[in-house]
Order: sequence, then C-alpha cells, then structure tokens
Amino acid sequence: MERATIATVWLEGCAGCHMSFLDIDEVLLDLLPRIELTDSPITDFKDFNFRRVDVGIIEGAIGNNEQLEIARRLRDRCKILVAWGDCAVFGGINTLRNAIARADVLKCAYIDSASTVDGIIPDDKELPVLLQKTVPVNRMVEVDVYVPGCPPSPEAIAYSLTEILEGRIPVLTADMIHFD
Ligand code: SF4
Repeated sequence: MERATIATVWLEGCAGCHMSFLDIDEVLLDLLPRIELTDSPITDFKDFNFRRVDVGIIEGAIGNNEQLEIARRLRDRCKILVAWGDCAVFGGINTLRNAIARADVLKCAYIDSASTVDGIIPDDKELPVLLQKTVPVNRMVEVDVYVPGCPPSPEAIAYSLTEILEGRIPVLTADMIHFD
C-alpha cells in the first residue's frame, strides 16, 4: 500500500490508545513516510467530515449518539476499520454504567457528585444524547481489525499498522495482547 491515508477518532475513551501510538518511538519514523494522517485528535481536527481513507481507527466505545454517527461515517469512508484498545474492542470500563439507569447516571454525574453544588442535568439540544448502553464498536458497525489492550502495547500498534501497510490483515500473537 503506497502512502496510506489514515483517519483516527477518539470516542468514549481516555486518549491512552493514541498515547500508545505516539509511544511506538522510532518505528513512527519508519511509518510516517508511508502514511498520511488525514484526520486525527493528534492533528487537532474539529469536524467529522472525513474524506475517503484507506484505514480508519477508532479508540473508545460508543456511548452516545454523536459517537455513533462518527463511527458510522468513518466506517462508510474507510476501507479497513481498526478497533484500538479494550474500550473499542470490548466496551471497556465505560460499560460499568450499563447496569445503571441512564437517568441515575446523569443524576450521579451532574447533581450528586461530591464536588457539585446546585447542579443541573444539561439538556441543550446540541449536546450528544447518551445511548441506553455503552457498547463496543462492532455492535454498531463492522470492524475488520481488533487491537485489544488497555492501552494496546506500542508493539501491537506498530505491528498491526505495518501489516496493514503491507496489505495484510494483522493477526496479533498472544504475547502482543498479554500483559505480565
Ligand atoms: S482501552 Fe484503555 S487506554 Fe484505550 S481508551 Fe480505553 S481506557 Fe484508555
């Protein structure tokens, strides 16, 4: 694959997966001439009108209607969609809220939290609406490559990207998804 175009998004996650990408150190120097990052939190993009790309990468689970729309747009505009990290692959820590009613989650966050005084639950029409449950990416759109880990190790990220650039779907070995 010549100079692959790549778009990455950060949905319901902590940015740790993107940090792990930056942690691949000198491998990044090998990869950079072979890729073009079109849209990414790393490039500080502000809208989600993705151009068509070779590879789309999602960090984070899907927990609100805006994240769902972003995932669908990226799926629609990429050839290979990668789920980066346990939040994207399994739902991750975000799914802790799934056993709690949505109204109670909002009340806990905006009214009952220890640091809140006279809190209100925001209801501006422009704000994303929580889905009933937070779900992994493949519950909403088709995923081609899974790179689990919290975060995925820099080695796993480097390996999976290199394989994709070579035209292969990466198969991660056990040592890449196991933490001692
Ligand atoms: S998988 Fe871990 S590092 Fe990645 S977004 Fe989720 S919590 Fe953060």
